[in-house]
Amino acid sequence: MARKVLKGIPVSSGIAIGKAFFLKRGRNRLKPRLLILPEEVSKEVQRLDRAIEDVRKEMEEAKEKIPGELKEYADVLHSHLMILRDEKLFGKAKKIIAEQHINAEWAIEKALIELEKIFTALDNEYIKQRMQDIQLVAEKVCSVLIGFQQPIAKISQRGILLAHDLDPTDTILLELDKIMAFATVLGGKTSHAGIIARSLQIPAIVGVEGLEYNIRDGQVIILDGFEGKILISPTEDELANYNYLQYKFEEYQSVISRDCHLPASTTDGFRIHVLANIELFEEVTSVIDYGGEGIGLYRSEYSFLNKTSFPEEEEIFEEYRDLASIMYPRPVVIRTLDLGADKVSGLFEPIEEVNPALGLRGIRFCQKYKEIFRKQLRAILRAGVVGNISVMFPMISGLHELIQAKKFFKQVQKELKQEGLDFNPDMPLGIMIEIPSAVLIADLLAKEVDFFSIGTNDLIQYALGIDRSNKYVSYLYQPLHPAIIRSIKHVLQVAKENKIKVSVCGEMSSDPFCVPVLLGMGIDSLSLSPQAIPGIKKIIRQVSMEKCKKLVTQILESGDVLKNNKIVRDNIFSQFPEELTFFTSLIDEEKS
Ligand code: PEP
Ligand code: MG
Repeated sequence: MARKVLKGIPVSSGIAIGKAFFLKRGRNRLKPRLLILPEEVSKEVQRLDRAIEDVRKEMEEAKEKIPGELKEYADVLHSHLMILRDEKLFGKAKKIIAEQHINAEWAIEKALIELEKIFTALDNEYIKQRMQDIQLVAEKVCSVLIGFQQPIAKISQRGILLAHDLDPTDTILLELDKIMAFATVLGGKTSHAGIIARSLQIPAIVGVEGLEYNIRDGQVIILDGFEGKILISPTEDELANYNYLQYKFEEYQSVISRDCHLPASTTDGFRIHVLANIELFEEVTSVIDYGGEGIGLYRSEYSFLNKTSFPEEEEIFEEYRDLASIMYPRPVVIRTLDLGADKVSGLFEPIEEVNPALGLRGIRFCQKYKEIFRKQLRAILRAGVVGNISVMFPMISGLHELIQAKKFFKQVQKELKQEGLDFNPDMPLGIMIEIPSAVLIADLLAKEVDFFSIGTNDLIQYALGIDRSNKYVSYLYQPLHPAIIRSIKHVLQVAKENKIKVSVCGEMSSDPFCVPVLLGMGIDSLSLSPQAIPGIKKIIRQVSMEKCKKLVTQILESGDVLKNNKIVRDNIFSQFPEELTFFTSLIDEEKS
């Protein structure tokens, strides 16, 4: 069998070598097409028999439950049960497995084609109808064979997880002791699965074409999280090379972590604050271990994703209080719930939205579900007594929306006061700048808040009109697009005029090519996943502000994203050729 290398988008650095196992294969019409060895034939036939048996049991059960008035459906099920026993379909498929040494899904497809040829030749309506039934039953058996929707909790072996997609809830449920790395068919450069992979420090690739159809459960693969490649059944040489790369990466990590507590100052003395993005309370120790100077973004919605009942205010308060006291005196920015879009909590009634990313998410979601918003704001304000907490609203799109949210915040403070509960009445309040409208009215928004945090993940998505988790347009997801650079520059300018601080908390702040550009534009602080802090701090310590500013001038003059990518690559790469191999980057060298 010819060896294959699959390609995807690298989203979390590192190498993993191990056995592949699938979870949640796609509900896709495409079926895996694999050659099997002669000695695997009987196992493959048994696999097909088991799938037929599973479907049979399901149909029998359904038939039992059909009420008398729907008897015609019982007849349909009866005919489907007959098809299951039909030698012309599944008997033929087994014969094809034995003769052509191919997997069951492919064999069913071939058997279907043969049947179709015979039926079409007959040109009879009734028979055509029957062919549709046969296809339906074949589809059912194939779905069982492909095995999509295996629950994430059921992982039993350690290996490299492959899935059609992993949503944020799946990713936080991953059992780290069982998962060495993961790869998915869907996903883009800043989809949440990648963000979580970096937090968990496991290599990951998303947007891998052909993942489901080229790899079998149990097959040994190499997942290269630096270049976004999967090597199937690697050779001895490849194994040796990748083992060496893995060793070098570990060596690099231990070297950078030694200096991670040093401040991040450029060679010409400009000091940048480097804070951490976290999703779960448990990550707090890694913030300190990796030299984070505080938490610049607590994605508070994550602790709601796997909850089965609404948390009480006291529970939320205790979490924030503990977080803030462990970090004290370092600052902690708690972003209020950014639920909606792909971050769906089972606690809320599901709603149907055609474009969820443009729908009820972030502050809009909180405005609708006021009671949970109230609980969260109360908890944040109360925890502010013991720690250095700031509150931040996500997805602000307009002034009115911000003023409404601020009014509610004030009202919550009033309630706490009336109840005689301790809280911080002077808590700093900031907003995420992640929607183009917020950029354009940054001057108006700046007068209402204490700080801005630029969420470049969403800003790029909304400004360039590119779904951040869509691999098909991932090549257009370009942080150095002039529109993004101009947006950031404008926000910084306005913030300076209004004397408020600006941080960047999107993935641009952990990108070795983007960070010097952000520094050159005058950013006050960066917030990134804890594990990326040592490497980024080291890069900052080795560049000069003078050089960063020159880089920004060149980029602003060029006005072309491809040229910009080349400018940063040429400049930065020449300075850190070796260590850049250990970073994943949002910057594509050639594509746009
Ligand atoms: C962003 O949009 O850049 C951001 C930091 O928020 P999130 O990735 O959680 O949407
Ligand atoms: Mg965002």
